[in-house]
Amino acid sequence: MPKVILVIMDGTGYDAAVTQCGYLEGAVELGRARRWKMQTATPSLSGPMYETMHTGLWPHEHGITSNESMRASERPNVFSLSRAAGKVTAAVAQEYYHRLYVDRPWDRLRSIEHHDTDTDIQHARFYSMEGYGAINAVAPAEIDLCAQVTLLAERHAPDYLLLHSCSADTLGHTYGGDSAQYRYQVWMIDNALSRAIPTWLELGYEVMVTADHGMNAERHHGGMEPIMREVPFYYFGAASGPDAGELLSQLGLAATILNRLGVAPASEMRPAFL
Ligand SMILES: [Zn+2]
Repeated sequence: MPKVILVIMDGTGYDAAVTQCGYLEGAVELGRARRWKMQTATPSLSGPMYETMHTGLWPHEHGITSNESMRASERPNVFSLSRAAGKVTAAVAQEYYHRLYVDRPWDRLRSIEHHDTDTDIQHARFYSMEGYGAINAVAPAEIDLCAQVTLLAERHAPDYLLLHSCSADTLGHTYGGDSAQYRYQVWMIDNALSRAIPTWLELGYEVMVTADHGMNAERHHGGMEPIMREVPFYYFGAASGPDAGELLSQLGLAATILNRLGVAPASEMRPAFL
């Protein structure tokens, strides 16, 4: 069975990815990867979409409808089902993921390194972004996140490994989705991935790259605008999938990841597209 790395480029809309991600788009042009347009659930907010991508449910169904209502996941999800099936899980992600899938108190001085096989994310490097704002983005370097993913892959061989980058979202909230700063940051992610993805493929992973939501010019997301809801989905792997022009639903991502891992999706999850 393949192992899967999912990259979430937080706040990176479809048009921003297609115009700025020269490595990912080049891989599509060469036939080494495939890319679809994906539509998010709503409200198109970070915390609710993290849970939607991992449970295959709308926020109205999984209950996390706002970043202000973050709590531990209460539904079967990619991490819990993988662990229950004997798979190894890992993540490099912002603190919200610790709240969702580790469900232990956040220790400000220790939780950034996590190893506990009794939790749904078993191995992780978390980051807090404490103090984030217009003065200081407090976002880790993209290549450093990729390095942490590589080390986790080499040391623990996780079957499911999440990389969550928050920098494009941060720059979008600060300067807007129609700014040079936002577009440059989207390219920065692509630039780091251009050096990491070949290594991850060599390690035996399939790689999926997507986003939780997009970003409008008013520095916002959460509503129904296409620029908020349309995100890319890139896939480096062996499954065929639907025609390139088909609009994918973000609700199908959880079952898709589990399918690729050989783990049965929960019956309440929306159907897989791969
Ligand atoms: Zn987000």
